[in-house]
Amino acid sequence: MSVFNYEQDADGIVTVTMDMTGPVNAMNAEYREAMSETVDKLEQQDGLTGVVLASAKSVFFAGGDLHELLAVEKGHEALFMEVIANIKDGLRRLEKLPVPVVAAINGAALGGGYELCLACNHRVAWDDKSVQIGLPEVSLGLLPGGGGIVRMVNMLGLEKALPYLVEGKKVVPAKALAEGMIDETVEKPEDLVPRAKAWILENKENEQAAVQPWDRKGHRIPGGSATSPKLSQIIMGTPIMLLQKTRGLLPAPEKILDVAIEAARLDFDTALRVESRALAFLAVTPEAKNQISTFFFAMNKVNGGASRPQGIEPTRVVKVGVLGAGMMGQGIAYVSAMAGIEVVLKDISLEAARKGKAYTEALLDKRVSRGRMSEEKKASILELILATEKDQDLQGCDLIIEAVFENMELKNKITASTETYLADNGVWGSNTSALPITRLAEASSKPENFIGIHFFSPVDKMPLVEIICGEKTSDETLARAFDYARQIKKTPIVVNDSLGFFTSRTFGTYLDEGVRLLAEGIHPVQIDHIGKALGMPVGPLAVYDEISQALTHKAQSTWKELGMMEEFGDNSPSVDVVNTLVEEYGRGGRHHGGGFYQYAEDGSKAIWPKLFDLYYKPEVQYDEDDMKDRLLFRQVIESLKCLESGVLRSVEDGNIGSIMGIGAPFWTGGYLQFVETYGYPRFVKRCNELEAKYGERFTPPQIALDKAREQAAA
Ligand code: NAD
Repeated sequence: MSVFNYEQDADGIVTVTMDMTGPVNAMNAEYREAMSETVDKLEQQDGLTGVVLASAKSVFFAGGDLHELLAVEKGHEALFMEVIANIKDGLRRLEKLPVPVVAAINGAALGGGYELCLACNHRVAWDDKSVQIGLPEVSLGLLPGGGGIVRMVNMLGLEKALPYLVEGKKVVPAKALAEGMIDETVEKPEDLVPRAKAWILENKENEQAAVQPWDRKGHRIPGGSATSPKLSQIIMGTPIMLLQKTRGLLPAPEKILDVAIEAARLDFDTALRVESRALAFLAVTPEAKNQISTFFFAMNKVNGGASRPQGIEPTRVVKVGVLGAGMMGQGIAYVSAMAGIEVVLKDISLEAARKGKAYTEALLDKRVSRGRMSEEKKASILELILATEKDQDLQGCDLIIEAVFENMELKNKITASTETYLADNGVWGSNTSALPITRLAEASSKPENFIGIHFFSPVDKMPLVEIICGEKTSDETLARAFDYARQIKKTPIVVNDSLGFFTSRTFGTYLDEGVRLLAEGIHPVQIDHIGKALGMPVGPLAVYDEISQALTHKAQSTWKELGMMEEFGDNSPSVDVVNTLVEEYGRGGRHHGGGFYQYAEDGSKAIWPKLFDLYYKPEVQYDEDDMKDRLLFRQVIESLKCLESGVLRSVEDGNIGSIMGIGAPFWTGGYLQFVETYGYPRFVKRCNELEAKYGERFTPPQIALDKAREQAAA
C-alpha cells in the first residue's frame, strides 16, 4: 500500500491523497518513492481526465525533511544534489501531465508543501487562518530548492516574488489569493476536493488548463525578464538593501536573491538546476546547521515541554495577581488578559494601578483602529483587569506575580504580607531581574511554591520567559509556571538560580567586554560598530544606556551587600567606568539624562564628548577580529559555564534563551550551538589565544576542554 492513496472516479479524475507515515507529510525518502510511483501510474493511467492532490493530514504538507538536511555534510553535496534532482523530477513530471492537476490545500502548505502546490496547474485552499502559505526556508538558512524560487518568479514576476522568497513571508489564503499565489478559496474544507474536480470538468475543453504558464509557447515572466530596464533597477538596488539588513552575516537571503535573478534570466530547466546547486551550497553552511538546529529542533523541544517536569497534570491559571503596575506589571497584565485570564493589577495607589490598566487600553485601541479587534472584544478584555490598591482583592489568585521595584527588602515585605491571599497551592512568581530566587523565597512560608518568572521588556512584544527555580522550588510549581507561560503564548526556558540567572548573566558579559574595550582606549563608536558587525542588535555601549548605568550601579551595591559581587567580577574595569559615570558625572543612562551617549530633543544621539577625554587612546589599536571575538566569546564562555554549573538545564534552553532573550546573532543559532559548528578544538585554541592576549576571562571552561578532547579523538 502506498502512502499516497490513489483513487479514480467515474469522470476519470484521480485523487491522490497524501497520508505519509508519521504525523505529517514531508519530503523524505518515503515521499520520493511514493511520488515517483504515483507519477509513473498517472502517466500510464487509462481515461485520465485530471488529478487532485489532497492531504489526509491536518497540515497539507510540511515541507523538506530537516533531519535529512541537517545530516548533509560538506563534501557530500553531489549526493544531495541527486536527492534534490529526484524531487524536482517528480514535480516536473506531475506538472507536465497532459491533464490539469489541482492542489486541494486543507492545511498549512509551507516550504516544500507550497512547492508541491506550485507544481500544480490550479490551487484551491480552505479559507481558514490555520492554512498558512509561503516559502519560509530562509529563516532556517536554506532556500526553496524544490523549484519554489523558479516557479514563483515565473508565476508572479521577480519584484512581487522577492519578499516571499527573501523574507520568507507567510500568508493566509485570502492574502495568497490577492497575491496570485493561489487561485481560489472555499469556505469549508469538505468543499475542497469537489471544487477541485469541478474546476477540472469546467476546463475540459481548455487545453491551456493543463499547461503551466512557463511551459506555454511565448511565455513571458510578469514584469519582464532580468534584462528589462525596469527590473535592472531592482537588480541593482536590492542587494545593497539586503546587505544593510543582513550585514553580510546570512548567506541564505543573498543566495535566494541570486537564484531569483537567475530565474528571471535563464530558461526554466536551467534555472531549476541553478536553484539546486544553491541549496546544496547553503545546506552545508554552519549558518544553516545552526538555524535548523535552534529555530526548528530546539524551538519544538522547548515549546513542546521538554523542560517541564513529567507526570504532572496540565494546569491553567484562572486568576492572576500582578503586584506593581509599572513598566513590567502593566505588560504582564496585558498579556494575561489577552489570554483570557482574570487579572488583579495592584499598585500602591488606585491611580497608579489605573495607569497600568490604561496601558492595556491603549494597546487594544491600536488593534481596534487597525481593524484587528472589535469594540466588544476590547471591552471584554478590559473587563478582565481589576485595577486596585487593596491587597484583599488578590484573594483566591492561583498565581501572583510580583513586579515591584528591584529591592530585596520591599519584595520580602510584600511576599510575607500578600501570599496569604493565594489560593491553596497557589504559585508565587517574582519578576526580579537579578535578585537570587532562593534568597527571595526565604521570605515565603511556602518556598516550594516560590519561583522566578522573568519577563523581558516590552512584555507584549518579547516572546521569551525565563523561569528560575530556587533551591526549594517544587516540580509542581515549575510545571504550573511553565503552563502559565504557554497559556500566555510565551516560550519558556527553565534555569536554576544564579546571579543574573542565564540571560542577564550572559548578556552582562557583552556589556562588560564592551566597556572594557572603552576603558582600554578603543574609540566608542568603533566598539558599537563591532557589536553590530557581529550581528548583535545594538552595540554594547548604546544598549548599556538603554538598560541604564544607574540601575546596574544600584544592582551592584545590592550584590555587594549580599556578598555576591565576587561572582559578578567586582575587579572588572567596567565597574570603575560605571561608577565614574554615575557617581562623578551623573550619567545614569538614556532615561537619566544621558550615559555614554548624549541625546538631543530631535531624537538624535552622539557620544558624550567627555568620554573621549576620560578613556579614548588613539594609540591603542586592536585587530578587528579580536574585538569581535572578545564580544562573542565572553558570551559563549559564560553560556558554557552556565551549562557546566547546572544553571542551564538543557542545551536547547540555552540556545533559545540566547536568541530570544539576549539577542544573540541569528547566524550563531544561540551561543551553545555556535560552538557545535565552530568546533570545540578550534574554540579552545581561539580561547587560549585570547586568554594569552587579553586575560583569564577567556580561559576555556572545563566542559569545552572535555568536548574538544572527545571531538579530537573521534
Ligand atoms: P517600575 O518602577 O516601572 O514599576 C514598579 C511599580 O511597582 C511601580 O508602579 C510602583 O508604584 C510599584 N510598587 C512599589 N511598591 C509597591 C507595593 N508595595 N505594592 C504594589 N506596587 C508597588 O519597575 P519595572 O521596570 O516594572 O520593574 C519591576 C520589576 O521587574 C523589578 O524587579 C525589575 O528588576 C524587574 N524587571 C524589569 C525589567 C525591565 O526591563 N524594566 C525586565 C525584567 C525584570
